[in-house]
Amino acid sequence: MKIFIKNGHLIDPTRKIDEICDILIEDGKIKELQRLKARGKGQANSSEPRTQNPEQEIIDASGMIVMPGLVDMHVHLREPGFEYKETIKTGTEAAVRGGITSVCCMPNTNPVNDNPGITEFILRKAIQEGSCTIFPIGAITKGQKGEELAELGMMYDAGCVAFSDDGRPVMDSLLMRRALEYSRIRKALIISHAEDMSLAAGGVMNEGLLSITLGLKGIPAQAEEVMISRDIALAELTGGRLHIAHVSTAGSVELLRTAKKRGVAEITAETCPHYFSITEEAVVGYNGNAKVNPPLRRKKDVDAIRDGLQDGTIDAIATDHAPHHKDEKSGEFDNAPSGISGLETSLGLSMRLVDDRILTLSQLVEKMSAAPARILGIADKKGAIRAGADADIVIIDTNKEYTVSGADFRSKGRNTPFEGWTLKAQPAVTIAKGRIYRWE
Ligand SMILES: [Zn+2]
Repeated sequence: MKIFIKNGHLIDPTRKIDEICDILIEDGKIKELQRLKARGKGQANSSEPRTQNPEQEIIDASGMIVMPGLVDMHVHLREPGFEYKETIKTGTEAAVRGGITSVCCMPNTNPVNDNPGITEFILRKAIQEGSCTIFPIGAITKGQKGEELAELGMMYDAGCVAFSDDGRPVMDSLLMRRALEYSRIRKALIISHAEDMSLAAGGVMNEGLLSITLGLKGIPAQAEEVMISRDIALAELTGGRLHIAHVSTAGSVELLRTAKKRGVAEITAETCPHYFSITEEAVVGYNGNAKVNPPLRRKKDVDAIRDGLQDGTIDAIATDHAPHHKDEKSGEFDNAPSGISGLETSLGLSMRLVDDRILTLSQLVEKMSAAPARILGIADKKGAIRAGADADIVIIDTNKEYTVSGADFRSKGRNTPFEGWTLKAQPAVTIAKGRIYRWE
């Protein structure tokens, strides 16, 4: 099966392409790319002879932006164990709706993905029911208990691309050291959920004046920063490959900036759309949908996150898509689980960074596609539109606006603090796993 995308404005930072191109796809791979300039003025459009081929699907992308499918390195798909919140099927449907064609799924399922059997189960289900590609992330420690290293080597061989106890920090520094030593040998990434549990204990929102006013127990910014400091020190000690998940504070950005300047090992970091879009004020009214971990911070933190994205301190944008059931989120704020259903609003929220001149469109594609693919070691297949790569593509109308409505989500999780927001750049077409998804 051939797919021909014509006259789209292709943005691919990996090859510094920012121009009108035609793209030919064959059997799920990029076959050929033709730049308009190379085609020459007045010459017949190279699509003409192909339009008569019934075996070929033609997509007219005139006036639209075409970019490599987004790679989301931080997603909770909930299966196995919490299928009432999300499944591999619904989660990947939500991903392609959001322009995301590769997702990394975190291991905090039930059972935990801490052995090759679970990794294989996820990969099998992904092939059968997944709308996009899934790259599993294995747990660092058995049962995410932080006591004993999991079977990292066997999980890596089974298909895990990274390891994390996400949702829980690895509090034991020696264990974290061992994990980072392993990462250096096998080139497997260690993703840190940076949170000092004793400092954060019992907290449900950012610690400060607002938490006192609302009578809610706070989590200080330092709970994140203390842990990032430790992990940078351990990366320095081991030379391991450390990636910091969901950076949320100004202090964290500064720590990473300094470490990167010093040239400490291979440190990378991600943030999520909610940390550069809203502040702790979203919690006012005890809005459970604004409860996340790490918590939403202050304006100065949001500004620092934006600066960190702009100057390259923060490499990637990931969603930390964490779907929950409506009943869980609508109860008492203290008891509500943390998380935002983020796959379907990520691109639109991130596009605001382009409107605010924080990032160029090309830099945005870098943060959401090329960089995560590179960090995960999958850049040979994902995150670029080049001959031989997987045909993961998103086509968007950057001018069309839409209103966020949780009720319209493909995800089972409707938990969003962005209900009613007007966003731009919802994908018109996503191509993933050789299939074309079109929306009006
Ligand atoms: Zn997470």
